[in-house]
Amino acid sequence: MKKFLLRLLVFLSITFFITMAFTLFLESKYKGQFHSDKKVEIKIEKDKIIPPVETSLVKANYAFSKGYFLLSIGLSIIFPIFIIKCGIIEIVENKFLKRNNYIREGIIIGVIYYLTNFIIFFPLTFFSSFYRLKLVGLLNYDFFSWLLDLFKNEALNFVLTTLSAAILYYIFRKFKLWPLLVVIFTGFSVILGTFIFPFVVDPLLNEITPMQNKELEYKIKDLAHREGIDNISVYQVKMSDQTSALNAYMTGIFSSKRIVVWDTTLNNLDESQILSVVAHEIGHYKLNHIPKGIALEFLLGALTYFPAYFLTFVIAKRNKRAIKGPYGLAYILLFSTLIGMILNPISLYYSRKIELDADKFAIQITKDNLTNGILELKFMETNLSPYDVDKWYKILRFDHPTAKERIDLANSYDK
Ligand SMILES: [Zn+2]
Repeated sequence: MKKFLLRLLVFLSITFFITMAFTLFLESKYKGQFHSDKKVEIKIEKDKIIPPVETSLVKANYAFSKGYFLLSIGLSIIFPIFIIKCGIIEIVENKFLKRNNYIREGIIIGVIYYLTNFIIFFPLTFFSSFYRLKLVGLLNYDFFSWLLDLFKNEALNFVLTTLSAAILYYIFRKFKLWPLLVVIFTGFSVILGTFIFPFVVDPLLNEITPMQNKELEYKIKDLAHREGIDNISVYQVKMSDQTSALNAYMTGIFSSKRIVVWDTTLNNLDESQILSVVAHEIGHYKLNHIPKGIALEFLLGALTYFPAYFLTFVIAKRNKRAIKGPYGLAYILLFSTLIGMILNPISLYYSRKIELDADKFAIQITKDNLTNGILELKFMETNLSPYDVDKWYKILRFDHPTAKERIDLANSYDK
Protein backbone atom coordinates (compact mmCIF):
# COMPACT_ATOMS: atom_id res chain seq x y z
CA MET A 1 0.00 0.00 0.00
CA LYS A 2 2.84 2.37 0.93
CA LYS A 3 4.47 1.84 -2.48
CA PHE A 4 1.21 2.61 -4.25
CA LEU A 5 0.61 5.80 -2.25
CA LEU A 6 4.15 6.92 -2.98
CA ARG A 7 3.67 6.34 -6.72
CA LEU A 8 0.36 8.20 -6.58
CA LEU A 9 2.07 11.12 -4.86
CA VAL A 10 4.85 11.21 -7.48
CA PHE A 11 2.31 11.08 -10.33
CA LEU A 12 0.22 13.81 -8.69
CA SER A 13 3.28 16.03 -8.19
CA ILE A 14 4.30 15.62 -11.84
CA THR A 15 0.80 16.55 -13.09
CA PHE A 16 0.67 19.44 -10.67
CA PHE A 17 4.01 20.90 -11.77
CA ILE A 18 3.37 20.45 -15.49
CA THR A 19 -0.06 22.10 -15.24
CA MET A 20 1.28 24.87 -13.04
CA ALA A 21 4.26 25.52 -15.34
CA PHE A 22 1.97 25.71 -18.36
CA THR A 23 -0.42 28.05 -16.55
CA LEU A 24 2.32 30.36 -15.31
CA PHE A 25 3.93 30.41 -18.75
CA LEU A 26 0.69 31.61 -20.37
CA GLU A 27 0.01 33.97 -17.49
CA SER A 28 3.33 35.70 -18.11
CA LYS A 29 2.80 35.64 -21.89
CA TYR A 30 -0.51 37.50 -21.57
CA LYS A 31 0.59 39.58 -18.58
CA GLY A 32 -1.12 42.93 -18.32
CA GLN A 33 -3.95 41.90 -20.63
CA PHE A 34 -6.19 40.27 -18.06
CA HIS A 35 -7.73 43.56 -17.06
CA SER A 36 -7.98 44.88 -20.59
CA ASP A 37 -11.25 45.96 -22.15
CA LYS A 38 -13.75 43.15 -22.67
CA LYS A 39 -15.97 45.13 -24.98
CA VAL A 40 -16.61 43.53 -28.38
CA GLU A 41 -17.80 46.13 -30.84
CA ILE A 42 -20.99 45.44 -32.77
CA LYS A 43 -20.79 46.67 -36.35
CA ILE A 44 -23.53 46.16 -38.89
CA GLU A 45 -23.26 47.23 -42.51
CA LYS A 46 -25.88 46.65 -45.18
CA ASP A 47 -27.77 44.30 -42.88
CA LYS A 48 -24.72 42.11 -42.28
CA ILE A 49 -22.70 41.69 -39.10
CA ILE A 50 -19.07 42.66 -39.64
CA PRO A 51 -16.55 40.09 -38.27
CA PRO A 52 -15.53 41.31 -34.80
CA VAL A 53 -12.02 41.96 -33.54
CA GLU A 54 -11.07 39.44 -30.83
CA THR A 55 -10.06 41.10 -27.56
CA SER A 56 -6.79 40.02 -25.96
CA LEU A 57 -8.81 38.46 -23.14
CA VAL A 58 -10.58 36.20 -25.65
CA LYS A 59 -7.22 35.27 -27.17
CA ALA A 60 -5.72 34.49 -23.76
CA ASN A 61 -8.71 32.39 -22.70
CA TYR A 62 -8.53 30.42 -25.94
CA ALA A 63 -4.80 29.73 -25.48
CA PHE A 64 -5.52 28.38 -21.99
CA SER A 65 -8.39 26.20 -23.27
CA LYS A 66 -6.24 24.61 -25.97
CA GLY A 67 -3.42 23.84 -23.56
CA TYR A 68 -5.65 22.36 -20.87
CA PHE A 69 -7.39 20.27 -23.51
CA LEU A 70 -4.07 18.75 -24.66
CA LEU A 71 -3.06 18.11 -21.05
CA SER A 72 -6.39 16.38 -20.37
CA ILE A 73 -5.96 14.13 -23.43
CA GLY A 74 -2.49 13.10 -22.27
CA LEU A 75 -3.67 12.49 -18.73
CA SER A 76 -6.72 10.46 -19.86
CA ILE A 77 -4.40 8.09 -21.75
CA ILE A 78 -1.79 7.86 -19.00
CA PHE A 79 -4.35 7.35 -16.20
CA PRO A 80 -5.49 3.78 -17.14
CA ILE A 81 -1.87 2.81 -17.82
CA PHE A 82 -0.97 4.11 -14.36
CA ILE A 83 -3.80 2.02 -12.86
CA ILE A 84 -2.48 -1.11 -14.61
CA LYS A 85 1.14 -0.52 -13.62
CA CYS A 86 1.01 1.15 -10.19
CA GLY A 87 0.30 -1.93 -8.09
CA ILE A 88 -3.20 -0.97 -6.92
CA ILE A 89 -4.75 -3.95 -8.74
CA GLU A 90 -2.62 -6.43 -6.77
CA ILE A 91 -3.63 -4.69 -3.55
CA VAL A 92 -7.32 -4.90 -4.49
CA GLU A 93 -6.99 -8.57 -5.52
CA ASN A 94 -5.09 -9.64 -2.40
CA LYS A 95 -6.88 -7.59 0.23
CA PHE A 96 -10.44 -7.14 -0.90
CA LEU A 97 -11.46 -9.83 -3.39
CA LYS A 98 -11.86 -13.05 -1.48
CA ARG A 99 -15.53 -13.82 -1.25
CA ASN A 100 -16.63 -13.60 -4.87
CA ASN A 101 -19.23 -11.04 -3.91
CA TYR A 102 -19.19 -9.09 -7.15
CA ILE A 103 -21.37 -6.18 -6.03
CA ARG A 104 -19.14 -5.58 -2.99
CA GLU A 105 -16.01 -5.92 -5.12
CA GLY A 106 -17.49 -3.53 -7.68
CA ILE A 107 -18.14 -0.91 -4.98
CA ILE A 108 -14.56 -1.19 -3.70
CA ILE A 109 -13.18 -0.88 -7.24
CA GLY A 110 -15.54 2.07 -7.90
CA VAL A 111 -14.37 3.92 -4.76
CA ILE A 112 -10.67 3.36 -5.54
CA TYR A 113 -11.14 4.32 -9.19
CA TYR A 114 -13.07 7.46 -8.29
CA LEU A 115 -10.57 8.64 -5.66
CA THR A 116 -7.48 7.97 -7.79
CA ASN A 117 -9.08 9.67 -10.77
CA PHE A 118 -10.14 12.68 -8.70
CA ILE A 119 -6.68 13.08 -7.17
CA ILE A 120 -4.78 12.73 -10.46
CA PHE A 121 -7.03 15.17 -12.32
CA PHE A 122 -7.31 17.66 -9.44
CA PRO A 123 -4.45 19.95 -10.56
CA LEU A 124 -6.01 20.25 -14.01
CA THR A 125 -9.44 20.93 -12.48
CA PHE A 126 -7.98 23.55 -10.18
CA PHE A 127 -5.94 25.42 -12.79
CA SER A 128 -8.50 25.23 -15.59
CA SER A 129 -11.73 25.84 -13.72
CA PHE A 130 -10.57 28.03 -10.86
CA TYR A 131 -7.22 29.71 -11.45
CA ARG A 132 -7.76 30.45 -15.16
CA LEU A 133 -11.36 31.63 -14.72
CA LYS A 134 -10.30 33.89 -11.87
CA LEU A 135 -7.50 35.28 -14.04
CA VAL A 136 -9.75 36.13 -16.98
CA GLY A 137 -12.51 37.39 -14.67
CA LEU A 138 -15.17 34.78 -15.36
CA LEU A 139 -15.47 33.51 -11.79
CA ASN A 140 -17.28 35.50 -9.15
CA TYR A 141 -16.43 33.58 -6.01
CA ASP A 142 -13.39 32.78 -3.87
CA PHE A 143 -11.41 29.56 -3.60
CA PHE A 144 -13.37 28.09 -0.69
CA SER A 145 -16.78 28.67 -2.26
CA TRP A 146 -15.41 27.14 -5.45
CA LEU A 147 -14.09 24.14 -3.54
CA LEU A 148 -17.40 23.72 -1.73
CA ASP A 149 -19.23 23.78 -5.03
CA LEU A 150 -16.78 21.29 -6.49
CA PHE A 151 -17.30 18.91 -3.55
CA LYS A 152 -21.07 19.25 -3.86
CA ASN A 153 -20.87 18.18 -7.50
CA GLU A 154 -18.26 15.53 -6.76
CA ALA A 155 -20.31 13.98 -3.96
CA LEU A 156 -22.96 13.22 -6.54
CA ASN A 157 -20.34 11.98 -8.99
CA PHE A 158 -18.90 9.76 -6.30
CA VAL A 159 -22.24 8.09 -5.58
CA LEU A 160 -23.03 7.61 -9.26
CA THR A 161 -19.56 6.28 -10.13
CA THR A 162 -19.56 3.80 -7.26
CA LEU A 163 -23.07 2.62 -8.02
CA SER A 164 -22.38 2.19 -11.74
CA ALA A 165 -19.06 0.48 -11.00
CA ALA A 166 -20.83 -2.06 -8.78
CA ILE A 167 -23.40 -2.88 -11.45
CA LEU A 168 -20.93 -2.85 -14.34
CA TYR A 169 -18.44 -5.04 -12.49
CA TYR A 170 -21.21 -7.51 -11.67
CA ILE A 171 -22.22 -7.66 -15.35
CA PHE A 172 -18.58 -7.97 -16.38
CA ARG A 173 -17.91 -10.92 -14.05
CA LYS A 174 -21.20 -12.75 -14.44
CA PHE A 175 -21.95 -12.62 -18.17
CA LYS A 176 -19.91 -13.66 -21.17
CA LEU A 177 -21.73 -11.18 -23.40
CA TRP A 178 -20.99 -8.28 -21.08
CA PRO A 179 -20.47 -5.59 -23.78
CA LEU A 180 -24.07 -5.95 -24.94
CA LEU A 181 -25.39 -5.68 -21.39
CA VAL A 182 -23.07 -2.76 -20.62
CA VAL A 183 -24.38 -0.86 -23.66
CA ILE A 184 -27.97 -1.57 -22.65
CA PHE A 185 -27.31 -0.66 -19.01
CA THR A 186 -25.53 2.61 -19.82
CA GLY A 187 -28.14 3.48 -22.45
CA PHE A 188 -31.01 3.02 -20.05
CA SER A 189 -29.25 4.83 -17.23
CA VAL A 190 -28.76 7.78 -19.58
CA ILE A 191 -32.50 7.79 -20.36
CA LEU A 192 -33.39 7.46 -16.68
CA GLY A 193 -30.84 10.13 -15.69
CA THR A 194 -32.07 12.54 -18.37
CA PHE A 195 -35.59 12.05 -17.05
CA ILE A 196 -34.86 12.33 -13.32
CA PHE A 197 -32.02 14.89 -13.16
CA PRO A 198 -34.01 18.03 -14.09
CA PHE A 199 -36.39 17.78 -11.15
CA VAL A 200 -34.45 15.73 -8.58
CA VAL A 201 -30.73 16.47 -8.93
CA ASP A 202 -30.46 19.89 -10.62
CA PRO A 203 -32.47 21.67 -7.86
CA LEU A 204 -30.10 20.17 -5.27
CA LEU A 205 -27.07 21.70 -6.96
CA ASN A 206 -28.50 25.09 -7.96
CA GLU A 207 -31.39 27.37 -7.12
CA ILE A 208 -33.94 26.67 -9.87
CA THR A 209 -37.24 28.56 -9.85
CA PRO A 210 -40.08 29.18 -12.30
CA MET A 211 -39.54 32.28 -14.48
CA GLN A 212 -40.03 35.36 -12.33
CA ASN A 213 -40.74 37.76 -15.19
CA LYS A 214 -44.24 36.57 -16.06
CA GLU A 215 -44.57 38.88 -19.04
CA LEU A 216 -41.42 37.38 -20.56
CA GLU A 217 -42.61 33.89 -19.72
CA TYR A 218 -45.86 34.63 -21.54
CA LYS A 219 -43.94 35.79 -24.62
CA ILE A 220 -41.79 32.65 -24.57
CA LYS A 221 -44.84 30.41 -24.28
CA ASP A 222 -46.50 32.32 -27.08
CA LEU A 223 -43.43 31.79 -29.29
CA ALA A 224 -43.51 28.06 -28.53
CA HIS A 225 -47.29 27.93 -29.03
CA ARG A 226 -46.89 29.28 -32.55
CA GLU A 227 -44.67 26.27 -33.25
CA GLY A 228 -47.31 23.90 -31.93
CA ILE A 229 -45.68 23.37 -28.52
CA ASP A 230 -48.18 23.96 -25.73
CA ASN A 231 -46.73 22.18 -22.74
CA ILE A 232 -43.38 23.94 -22.52
CA SER A 233 -41.91 24.59 -19.06
CA VAL A 234 -39.46 27.44 -18.61
CA TYR A 235 -37.32 27.88 -15.50
CA GLN A 236 -34.57 30.19 -14.40
CA VAL A 237 -31.47 29.22 -12.44
CA LYS A 238 -29.37 31.43 -10.21
CA MET A 239 -25.80 31.48 -11.53
CA SER A 240 -24.90 35.12 -10.92
CA ASP A 241 -23.21 34.38 -7.58
CA GLN A 242 -20.79 32.02 -9.39
CA THR A 243 -20.13 33.43 -12.81
CA SER A 244 -20.83 36.31 -15.13
CA ALA A 245 -21.06 34.03 -18.19
CA LEU A 246 -24.39 33.72 -20.02
CA ASN A 247 -26.21 30.52 -20.90
CA ALA A 248 -29.51 28.69 -21.30
CA TYR A 249 -30.16 25.03 -21.93
CA MET A 250 -32.80 22.50 -22.75
CA THR A 251 -32.89 19.39 -20.63
CA GLY A 252 -35.03 16.40 -19.70
CA ILE A 253 -37.02 13.86 -21.61
CA PHE A 254 -40.73 12.90 -21.65
CA SER A 255 -42.54 14.92 -18.99
CA SER A 256 -39.35 16.35 -17.49
CA LYS A 257 -38.50 18.30 -20.67
CA ARG A 258 -37.78 21.93 -19.84
CA ILE A 259 -35.89 25.04 -20.81
CA VAL A 260 -33.67 26.60 -18.15
CA VAL A 261 -32.28 30.12 -18.53
CA TRP A 262 -29.38 31.38 -16.39
CA ASP A 263 -30.29 34.52 -14.44
CA THR A 264 -27.13 36.15 -15.86
CA THR A 265 -28.73 35.82 -19.31
CA LEU A 266 -31.95 37.41 -18.05
CA ASN A 267 -30.05 40.24 -16.36
CA ASN A 268 -27.65 41.08 -19.18
CA LEU A 269 -29.60 40.70 -22.41
CA ASP A 270 -32.51 42.70 -23.75
CA GLU A 271 -35.85 41.09 -24.45
CA SER A 272 -35.32 40.35 -28.15
CA GLN A 273 -31.94 38.76 -27.33
CA ILE A 274 -33.44 36.60 -24.58
CA LEU A 275 -36.22 35.52 -26.93
CA SER A 276 -33.59 34.61 -29.53
CA VAL A 277 -31.70 32.49 -26.97
CA VAL A 278 -34.91 30.77 -25.88
CA ALA A 279 -36.04 30.27 -29.50
CA HIS A 280 -32.82 28.29 -30.03
CA GLU A 281 -33.74 26.08 -27.06
CA ILE A 282 -37.29 25.68 -28.40
CA GLY A 283 -35.56 24.43 -31.56
CA HIS A 284 -33.88 21.65 -29.57
CA TYR A 285 -37.28 20.89 -28.07
CA LYS A 286 -39.19 20.81 -31.33
CA LEU A 287 -36.50 18.94 -33.30
CA ASN A 288 -36.19 16.22 -30.62
CA HIS A 289 -32.47 16.70 -30.23
CA ILE A 290 -32.20 15.03 -26.82
CA PRO A 291 -33.70 11.64 -27.81
CA LYS A 292 -31.64 11.70 -31.01
CA GLY A 293 -28.50 12.40 -29.00
CA ILE A 294 -29.27 9.50 -26.66
CA ALA A 295 -29.73 7.16 -29.67
CA LEU A 296 -26.32 8.25 -30.98
CA GLU A 297 -24.76 7.55 -27.56
CA PHE A 298 -26.23 4.01 -27.65
CA LEU A 299 -24.58 3.43 -31.03
CA LEU A 300 -21.24 4.91 -30.01
CA GLY A 301 -21.35 2.86 -26.78
CA ALA A 302 -21.68 -0.31 -28.86
CA LEU A 303 -18.84 0.82 -31.13
CA THR A 304 -16.68 1.37 -28.04
CA TYR A 305 -17.35 -1.67 -25.85
CA PHE A 306 -17.43 -4.43 -28.47
CA PRO A 307 -13.96 -3.63 -29.87
CA ALA A 308 -12.69 -3.17 -26.29
CA TYR A 309 -14.06 -6.65 -25.55
CA PHE A 310 -12.12 -8.21 -28.43
CA LEU A 311 -8.97 -6.33 -27.55
CA THR A 312 -9.01 -7.85 -24.05
CA PHE A 313 -8.73 -11.29 -25.69
CA VAL A 314 -5.63 -10.13 -27.54
CA ILE A 315 -4.08 -8.94 -24.27
CA ALA A 316 -5.21 -12.08 -22.44
CA LYS A 317 -2.99 -14.18 -24.73
CA ARG A 318 0.02 -12.57 -23.05
CA ASN A 319 -1.42 -11.89 -19.63
CA LYS A 320 -3.97 -14.50 -18.47
CA ARG A 321 -5.23 -12.29 -15.68
CA ALA A 322 -6.31 -9.63 -18.16
CA ILE A 323 -9.50 -11.34 -19.16
CA LYS A 324 -11.45 -11.27 -15.88
CA GLY A 325 -11.36 -9.40 -12.63
CA PRO A 326 -9.88 -5.98 -11.92
CA TYR A 327 -7.06 -6.44 -14.47
CA GLY A 328 -9.55 -7.01 -17.25
CA LEU A 329 -11.51 -4.00 -16.08
CA ALA A 330 -8.41 -1.78 -16.14
CA TYR A 331 -7.62 -2.88 -19.70
CA ILE A 332 -11.20 -2.20 -20.73
CA LEU A 333 -10.87 1.26 -19.20
CA LEU A 334 -7.72 1.81 -21.27
CA PHE A 335 -9.20 0.49 -24.51
CA SER A 336 -12.54 2.25 -24.13
CA THR A 337 -10.73 5.53 -23.36
CA LEU A 338 -8.67 5.20 -26.54
CA ILE A 339 -11.61 4.11 -28.72
CA GLY A 340 -13.78 6.80 -27.12
CA MET A 341 -11.22 9.43 -28.11
CA ILE A 342 -11.25 8.21 -31.69
CA LEU A 343 -15.07 8.21 -31.82
CA ASN A 344 -15.59 11.47 -29.93
CA PRO A 345 -15.32 13.67 -33.07
CA ILE A 346 -18.45 11.92 -34.40
CA SER A 347 -20.59 12.97 -31.45
CA LEU A 348 -19.01 16.46 -31.48
CA TYR A 349 -19.77 16.79 -35.19
CA TYR A 350 -23.36 15.76 -34.55
CA SER A 351 -23.63 18.19 -31.66
CA ARG A 352 -22.32 21.08 -33.79
CA LYS A 353 -24.82 20.17 -36.48
CA ILE A 354 -27.85 20.19 -34.18
CA GLU A 355 -26.72 23.49 -32.67
CA LEU A 356 -26.70 25.08 -36.12
CA ASP A 357 -30.11 23.51 -36.80
CA ALA A 358 -31.44 25.06 -33.59
CA ASP A 359 -29.97 28.43 -34.68
CA LYS A 360 -31.70 28.15 -38.06
CA PHE A 361 -34.93 27.31 -36.26
CA ALA A 362 -34.53 30.31 -33.93
CA ILE A 363 -33.90 32.66 -36.85
CA GLN A 364 -36.95 31.35 -38.67
CA ILE A 365 -39.40 31.63 -35.79
CA THR A 366 -38.19 35.00 -34.54
CA LYS A 367 -37.64 36.24 -38.11
CA ASP A 368 -34.68 38.05 -36.59
CA ASN A 369 -31.32 36.88 -37.94
CA LEU A 370 -29.30 39.88 -36.76
CA THR A 371 -30.21 39.50 -33.09
CA ASN A 372 -29.26 35.83 -33.31
CA GLY A 373 -25.87 36.70 -34.77
CA ILE A 374 -25.27 39.60 -32.39
CA LEU A 375 -25.69 37.14 -29.50
CA GLU A 376 -22.40 35.59 -30.57
CA LEU A 377 -20.66 38.93 -30.13
CA LYS A 378 -22.25 39.12 -26.68
CA PHE A 379 -20.88 35.67 -25.82
CA MET A 380 -17.43 36.74 -26.98
CA GLU A 381 -17.72 39.53 -24.44
CA THR A 382 -19.31 37.72 -21.50
CA ASN A 383 -18.13 34.11 -21.97
CA LEU A 384 -14.87 34.98 -23.76
CA SER A 385 -15.74 32.53 -26.55
CA PRO A 386 -13.28 32.72 -29.46
CA TYR A 387 -14.49 33.99 -32.84
CA ASP A 388 -12.83 31.18 -34.77
CA VAL A 389 -10.65 28.24 -33.71
CA ASP A 390 -8.01 25.93 -35.22
CA LYS A 391 -9.53 23.18 -37.31
CA TRP A 392 -8.06 20.36 -35.19
CA TYR A 393 -9.40 21.95 -32.02
CA LYS A 394 -12.86 22.27 -33.51
CA ILE A 395 -12.91 18.63 -34.63
CA LEU A 396 -11.57 17.23 -31.35
CA ARG A 397 -13.15 19.54 -28.83
CA PHE A 398 -15.95 21.83 -30.00
CA ASP A 399 -19.52 20.69 -29.35
CA HIS A 400 -20.91 24.04 -30.50
CA PRO A 401 -20.31 25.80 -33.82
CA THR A 402 -17.80 28.64 -33.65
CA ALA A 403 -19.00 32.24 -33.36
CA LYS A 404 -17.82 32.69 -36.95
CA GLU A 405 -20.03 29.87 -38.24
CA ARG A 406 -23.04 31.16 -36.33
CA ILE A 407 -22.55 34.75 -37.48
CA ASP A 408 -22.10 33.51 -41.08
CA LEU A 409 -25.38 31.62 -40.72
CA ALA A 410 -27.15 34.75 -39.45
CA ASN A 411 -25.65 36.83 -42.26
CA SER A 412 -26.72 34.32 -44.91
CA TYR A 413 -30.37 34.36 -43.86
CA ASP A 414 -32.64 35.69 -46.58
CA LYS A 415 -35.66 37.52 -45.27
ZN1 LIG B 1 -28.15 24.64 -28.23
